[in-house]
Amino acid sequence: MTSGLVETPVLIVGGGPAGLTASLLLSRHGVDSLLIDKRIDASPLPRARGVHSRAMEILRVCGVEPDLRKVELPITPGAEWRADLTSPPLREDVLSAGPTTVSPCEGLSVSQDVFEAVLRDHAHGYAHAQLRPGTLLDSFHPVGDGVVATVVEQASGRRVQVRARWMIAADGARSGVRRHLRVAMNGPDDLGQQTMIAFRADLSALTGSRPRGIYFLTATATATATGAALIWTHADDRWVISQPGPIAADEDPAAVVRRILGVADLTVQVLATSHWTAGAQSAAQYAQGPVFLAGDAAHRFPPAGATGVSAAMHDVHNLAWKIAAVVGGHGSQQLLDSYAAEREPVGRRNADETGTAWMRIFNGNAAPFSGRGLAQLDMGYQYTSPVVVGDGSPDTDPPNADYQPTATPGCRAPHLWLADGTSTIDLFDQRFVLLTAEPGHAWRDAAAHATGVPVDSHVITEPNWPSLYGVAPDGAVLVRPDGHVAWRSRTSSTDPVKDIQTALTTSTGS
Ligand SMILES: Cc1cc2nc3c(=O)[nH]c(=O)nc-3n(C[C@H](O)[C@H](O)[C@H](O)COP(=O)(O)OP(=O)(O)OC[C@H]3O[C@@H](n4cnc5c(N)ncnc54)[C@H](O)[C@@H]3O)c2cc1C
Repeated sequence: MTSGLVETPVLIVGGGPAGLTASLLLSRHGVDSLLIDKRIDASPLPRARGVHSRAMEILRVCGVEPDLRKVELPITPGAEWRADLTSPPLREDVLSAGPTTVSPCEGLSVSQDVFEAVLRDHAHGYAHAQLRPGTLLDSFHPVGDGVVATVVEQASGRRVQVRARWMIAADGARSGVRRHLRVAMNGPDDLGQQTMIAFRADLSALTGSRPRGIYFLTATATATATGAALIWTHADDRWVISQPGPIAADEDPAAVVRRILGVADLTVQVLATSHWTAGAQSAAQYAQGPVFLAGDAAHRFPPAGATGVSAAMHDVHNLAWKIAAVVGGHGSQQLLDSYAAEREPVGRRNADETGTAWMRIFNGNAAPFSGRGLAQLDMGYQYTSPVVVGDGSPDTDPPNADYQPTATPGCRAPHLWLADGTSTIDLFDQRFVLLTAEPGHAWRDAAAHATGVPVDSHVITEPNWPSLYGVAPDGAVLVRPDGHVAWRSRTSSTDPVKDIQTALTTSTGS
C-alpha cells in the first residue's frame, strides 16, 4: 500500500558522486531536491581512488575542497611497473591530469567511500536538499509536466509517491531507470573480467610512506594479460588488487594477494572480493522527457585514466544550472535539451578513449597510445550545442589533442590567478559572468542594462588575460554558470547592448 505524496522540483535517484554533486549544485542554485539511495552503508569495495582537476574545481567553488584535502592520501603520482612488490621498478610513468599551471586545483587521491562521505556532509548542509538513504526507486511514470515515482523506505517497507518536475537518474552502471526507458548503450560491454580483492596489510617496507598512484605487478602476466594492478586506498593499510580473470574457486584470496605481491609470509586480512567486467559504453540518449541520465547511468568507462567519478560530476555540473535557469524563469526547454546535446558526445569520446587505453594496458600489447592526453580528457571537451554561440574558431578537441587553455566558445574558461589570490574559476558559480579588461567599459554598460538573465560583470586587470582568452583588450567573454564560455567578442562592437542581449538570449535558449 502506498501512503503519502511528496512534491519536489527534482528527484535525484542515486547518492553516488553524480547524485550527491547534483544535490549540492542544485542547492547552491536555490533549487529544492530530494535525493534517494537504496544503500544504507558504504560498499566495502573502495572503487574509485581518483578525482581529476576539473571535478576538484567544481568542489572548490562549492567550498568542499578543503575538507577533501584533509582526507587526501599522500601518494606519489604516477604508475610503476614491477615484477612483484619486492622487485625494483621496471618502468615509471607520470600520469598527473592536473598540472597546476592550467588549474587552481590538483587532482585528488582518496577512496570513493571517503569522498562520498565528505560530499554527503556538505550536501546535507543545505536547507534546499533532502537526502534519504535506504530508499529505493521502485517505479515511475510520466505525468503531464513531470514524473510520479513510487519509492520504498526499506527499513519500514513504507511506499511513498513522489511527484517531481524532473528526475535525475544517477543510479549507476546498472541503471534501472535507463532500462525502464529502454535506452540502449553503445560500445563494447565486455573488455575483460577482473577480480578485485580489497585487503589490509602493512606494505610500507616495500612502498615507503608515499606509495605510487598505481603499481602494475607483471610476474603473474600471461600472453594475453598484463598481471595485476595494486592500489593504496586508505591510510590504515587498506589496499586493492585487481587482476584479469577469475581466481580459482579453491584458491584462498589471501594466498592470491601474497602470490601477486611476492611476499610469502605477509599478514593479509581480506576485506572483500568481487568480480567485475570492464566496459566502454555511452547511452544512446542522455535525456527522455523530464528524465536525465547522469554519471555511470549514462556512460560506463574502464578505470584507465580514472575518469568515471570526474565525468559523473561534469554531467550534473552541466545540468544543474540549466534546471535552475528554468526554475528561475530565464531558461527554456531548449536549454534543458542542450544537456544531452552537450554531454552525449563527451560520454562517447571518453568511452572510446578509455576503452582503447584499457585494452592497451590489459591486452599485453603496449602499443603506442595516440589518444588525447589526460588533461585534455578532463578539461578539454568543447560543447557545440545551439546554446553556444560559435565564433568560427577551429575545433579545440581533435583526437591526439593535449590540453591548451582556450576561451573558444563551448570550452572551459581558462584559469588565471587574479591579484587577490583567487582564480577566474572562482568567479563561475551561480550566474552568467561577463569578463572584460579595463577598456571594455561599453560591454560592461551593456551587461548592466541586459534584461531577463542575471549577469555579473568582472574587470580582469591581469595583463595576460586578453591573450589567454583570445580577445583584444576591448573584447569580452561571457561565461556560463558551469564555467564554459557561452560567447566571445574578440574586439569592441558598434552595438554592444544588442550583442550582449543576443548572447544571453541564445545561451539560455529563451
Ligand atoms: C573497480 C572499479 C574501479 C574504479 N576506479 C575508478 C577510479 O579510479 N576513478 C574514477 O573516476 N572512477 C573509477 N571507477 C568508476 C566509478 O566508481 C564510477 O564511475 C562512479 O561511482 C559513478 O558514480 P555515479 O554516481 O554515476 O554512480 P554510482 O557511484 O554507482 O552510484 C549509483 C547509486 O545509485 C544507487 N541506486 C541504484 N539503483 C537505485 C534505485 N533503484 N533506487 C535508489 N538508489 C539506487 C546505488 O545504491 C548507488 O549508490 C571505478 C569503478 C570500479 C567498478
